[in-house]
Order: sequence, then C-alpha cells, then structure tokens
Amino acid sequence: MTEPLRAHHEISFRYRHSVGGAKARFLAGLRDARILASVGADGRVTVPPVDWDPETGTPTTELVPVGDRGIVASWTWDGPTGKAVALVRPVGADTCMVHVVDVADETALRTGMVVRADWRAERTGSITDIRAFVPCDSLVPAAAAGVAAEPPGDLAVVSETCLSYTFEPGLVLSDFLRTLANRRIAGGRCVSCDGVYVPPRPKCPDCMVGPMQPVPVSEQGIITAFTVVHVPFHGMEVDLPFVCAWIRLAGASVSFAHLLGGVSPADVTVGQRVEAVWATDTEPSWESIRWFRPIAEGTP
Ligand SMILES: [Zn+2]
Repeated sequence: MTEPLRAHHEISFRYRHSVGGAKARFLAGLRDARILASVGADGRVTVPPVDWDPETGTPTTELVPVGDRGIVASWTWDGPTGKAVALVRPVGADTCMVHVVDVADETALRTGMVVRADWRAERTGSITDIRAFVPCDSLVPAAAAGVAAEPPGDLAVVSETCLSYTFEPGLVLSDFLRTLANRRIAGGRCVSCDGVYVPPRPKCPDCMVGPMQPVPVSEQGIITAFTVVHVPFHGMEVDLPFVCAWIRLAGASVSFAHLLGGVSPADVTVGQRVEAVWATDTEPSWESIRWFRPIAEGTP
C-alpha cells in the first residue's frame, strides 16, 4: 500500500465594500467610541442599527447611542483562539450584537455576566475598534447623549478572509490520481453489485461493500449532462464561456464532472462522444486530464 497524496490549498475571500446608511453611521460611531442603535416604529432599539424596521418595514431614521456596557446573553467558547464569541446586549438596547469576550478561560464565562467594550486607542470605523468585551463590575448608564457626525465617504468593510489547509484524498483516490498521471484511468468494481465507479471509492456507495476491485476503463465516454459557464472565477485558466460536463466513460456505471475543450458550447449535446486530452504536466491530479474533447464523427 502506498502513501496517500497531500496537497496544500488556499481559499481566499478578500474584498472591500463601501457602506452607507445606518451601517456607515454605526461604524463612524465606533470610531468615536460609541455604540449607535436604531429605533423602530414600536420604540424597539436595535443594535447594530438597521435602515428599516424589521417588523413594519418603515425607515428607521433615528439613531441613538446605547451603553458600551451590557450583559452576555449567550456565548460559545472558541478553543483555537482562546476567546469566547458572545451575544452582548448593550444597556439601552433590545437586541444583541455579536462580539468577542476576552476572558482567561471558559470557566470565567456565564450568561448574564456584565461586560464593557474595551476600545482601541486608534480607531478607524470598524467593528474591531472594540478590541473585545471584557468583564466589569457594574452596568453604567448609557453613553453620553449625542449622535456621531455624518460618516466620511470612505468607510468600508474590508475582508481578508483566507482559509489555508492541507487536503489528503485518502489511499484509494491517491492511487487513482497516480494512475491518471501515467495516462491511464482506473475504475473500481464492486465485488457485490458489479458497479464500476470512476473515481473508485473505498466502498461501493450502493452496497457498502469494499474494497473495490481495480479495473481499467476507457478514456472515451459520453456526455450525460453539461452546463455552459459564463462567470469568471479566480485562478481560471480557460476562456469564457466554457463547458463543464458530466462524463460517463465506457465501462463505468457513473459519471464525473470535467471540463470540455476544443468545442464551441453551441455544439455540445447530451450523448455526445468525448475522449480525454492529457496534460503534459504529469503531477498526480485531476488536471492530469486537461479536458475532454468531442470524438470526430465516424471514429470507431
Ligand atoms: Zn455494490
């Protein structure tokens, strides 16, 4: 038995979006070290503020400051960061806001505990202007009256979310990918129902019997379904529009998804015969098959 493959992946979700309305005024308020809330038609005070009353849909033009102290309404402990994520209800508000509560450990947390905002010295108009909520002894009256000045036009929410991880596909799929790198496609036959799966699975999804028996399958097959993609995505290496198709190889019982190349989307049909076009790069991966292309009419 060989070692499983490992691959490093990174998913980034980086964006910047400008804000307006109640959200912009809320962020401007944070910059001024105050928490602003909106007042609905029934007098309900909502934090963070909203532009429209959630019950009646009427505009909520009035923003009021609420306290920067409050109580923890509920919480969950986030082990990896060593902090709690909590719903905090500020004094004067009828709703809660989500934020971090910074305590030494989980045992210091309880529902109903009193906390205060720990403001950063340098604030930019971001939810992180509150470093965290921290425990304190008593609630105090709401912050000083007065509403923050109109926010500058350059307030924005900036996301730098990035998820970095290592993927290990398992022994069965690793062997399949290594075989692909040698320009052969290996299916797995269920010894119970005779179904042939490409890629092979550790056990037959129908019978739950395994391991499956390795069996070579053709690099030719038919299109069982397809979609034409018009929307670009990060890291895309093909021109738009392109076709993503479900392909069932000769000898296989199930289809898998792959790219189609060398064909105009208008000329693709379900039932069309296609064949694998191999990549020159032979690192074990699905991309060892560059794409599938239609087989010319009359080819046996
Ligand atoms: Zn089976």
